[in-house]
Amino acid sequence: MRRFDLVIFDCDGVLVDSERLIVGLEAEIFRERGWPLTEDDIIREFVGLSDSAMRARLSELVGEELADDWDAEYTDRYRRTLAENVEAVAGVAAAIDIIERAGLATCVASSGSHHKMALTLGTTGLLSRFEGRIFSSTDPEVERGKPAPDLFLHAAARIGVAPDRCAVVEDSPFGLIAALDAGMSAFGFAGGVTPTHRLAIRGVTIFDSMTDLPPLVTST
Ligand SMILES: [Mg+2]
Repeated sequence: MRRFDLVIFDCDGVLVDSERLIVGLEAEIFRERGWPLTEDDIIREFVGLSDSAMRARLSELVGEELADDWDAEYTDRYRRTLAENVEAVAGVAAAIDIIERAGLATCVASSGSHHKMALTLGTTGLLSRFEGRIFSSTDPEVERGKPAPDLFLHAAARIGVAPDRCAVVEDSPFGLIAALDAGMSAFGFAGGVTPTHRLAIRGVTIFDSMTDLPPLVTST
């Protein structure tokens, strides 16, 4: 019997190489606002979090209560940065092909909005592959974003697969913790912005390249 029936892909940093772009842009925006946060701080504190969780943590760090729409004035810069520069993560389309040919279901579960995923997955040609199987922490059924397990449990329930038959592919510690707390197997992609040692959470299988992923999740 196969070990898994469903592979749940995080979006940013796993399917598309967007984290690098967003971290750079956020460092720029924070500098403009006079907030002393480096790229390393941004990676450690925010990568993988939902917008609302990020806003709460950012409010704490800068000592200012930030409104829900504090970043509305930057929407265009985010959109342009992604639209002009985002690429698929190297080898991920081929990895998905192999995983699906082996008979496993796939879906996407992201802290980002559907709007953002339509942009990044659309630009990189991955959107149509996941039609109807894209889940966001902004979905009304998802009470708490990553690192809570809610989003992954929601995705698995909608696809109709039990948590212990799910493999989650993530590039952030917050996402990996969410997967483990959901009772799923967690695979940490170390080819992104987060240093490998921060992905080394007990129970997580770390891999460096998308070509290494299919054998990890399709083996029996
Ligand atoms: Mg990610």
